[in-house]
Amino acid sequence: MTDCIFCKIANGEIPSKFIYEDDKVAAFNDLNPQAPVHFLVIPKKHYASLNDIDSKEAFADIFSAIPKITAKLGIKEYRTVVNTGASAGQTVFHIHVHVMAGREFTWPAG
Ligand code: AMP
Ligand code: ZN
Repeated sequence: MTDCIFCKIANGEIPSKFIYEDDKVAAFNDLNPQAPVHFLVIPKKHYASLNDIDSKEAFADIFSAIPKITAKLGIKEYRTVVNTGASAGQTVFHIHVHVMAGREFTWPAG
């Protein structure tokens, strides 16, 4: 999608340091981290939100990358968040999973 910042990150138009990449997904540190570790996992294909994911494979591609990345970082406990829609806090409309670690997390989320 032409005007999507995460598509531009995924296709290299905006240079970014990936902490993980395969043919389907990329992961990079959040610009405004909310925890000592805070990265985002995105599919390279544009889906505006969770509501637009159209295949089990797309879920599997995104979520199966997460334990690979956390294992590489030596992290066993972490919070994953997917905000869907503006009222849920979504600000970038290319689906992404937040992965945060390195501090205590409370529940329920705010
Ligand atoms: P959300 O509010 O769930 O849509 O999360 C969007 C996240 O993307 C926020 O945590 C932002 O800090 C992060 N973000 C926005 N632009 C960039 C960027 N260029 N590089 C890394 N993270 C970004
Ligand atoms: Zn996109």
